[in-house]
Amino acid sequence: MKHVLDHIHGSALPATATGTVASYIPALAKADPSLLGIAVVTADGEVFSTGAAETRFTMQSISKVLALAYVTDRMRRRGCLLPGRAGAKRRSLQFHDPPGNQRCHKPFNPFINAGAIVVSGLMPGSTPEDKGARFRAFVGQLIGRDDVARDEEVYISEKATAARNRSIAWFLKELGILPGEVEETLDVYFRQCAVSVDALDLARIGAILCTDGMDPTRGVRLLAARTTRVIKSLMVTCGLYDGSGEFAVDVGIPAKSGVGGGIMASVRDRMGIGVYGPALDQHGNSSAGLEALRRLSEELDLRVL
Ligand code: GLN
Repeated sequence: MKHVLDHIHGSALPATATGTVASYIPALAKADPSLLGIAVVTADGEVFSTGAAETRFTMQSISKVLALAYVTDRMRRRGCLLPGRAGAKRRSLQFHDPPGNQRCHKPFNPFINAGAIVVSGLMPGSTPEDKGARFRAFVGQLIGRDDVARDEEVYISEKATAARNRSIAWFLKELGILPGEVEETLDVYFRQCAVSVDALDLARIGAILCTDGMDPTRGVRLLAARTTRVIKSLMVTCGLYDGSGEFAVDVGIPAKSGVGGGIMASVRDRMGIGVYGPALDQHGNSSAGLEALRRLSEELDLRVL
């Protein structure tokens, strides 16, 4: 496996030159666009990696997966959200699209910002700091680390420039959908997006999803099977925004991207995969990360769709 990953790293690396790092959150523009890291954690707990697999970056939209898992699994708030109807009501896949006319008064998709901000509003805790800390502890339980940190610079940078997310949140408030006070809920959202991980961490999360919620290395249940089913279905339908359809055809596995350059993927009963490449394509997905996943899927026959 290590040999396969090294080979794929070499052949996917040129794709870093076809993308650009995100700059609408100014601190993200500091990332090195030439990086590519790939990590795999198998269903029986073996770990393999290559390239920049231990370079830390912010989860950004990958945190939407974990926030949804946290709120539905730990808080049993299923009725508030759409799980079970995975993405069926989506109208758009751009991550920053406004919520639109919501007659149902429910977020129609927890993997685009409007729905994700509502999920952030449902997180347990007394203050944004407390909610952010509890969320990081939850992420730490999944990846087996108790030092999960927030990237302060990225957090402050997003908070200072998030005009579009602010307008989305105020729109949600006006519709009566957003729980809590607008700025506080946004603060929780920015905190969760700025949680710092590496490709190995993402592979560990993917491995938990691949075994329907069991931790492959420790053999304990970390997420309810139903939660993982909901999450993986959403990942297939809208994990890569407007790139989701093409990815389903080309790669054929559930995956979720973030503008920090990470992609977390999961192959049922086989492995979790984490990739990191901060140069992004036009949909906000890692260019080289996608190329690596395409090649990995082909090489190891990972397609499940
Ligand atoms: N924090 C980012 C935002 O809200 C997340 C977007 C993404 O990763 N696609 O714009």
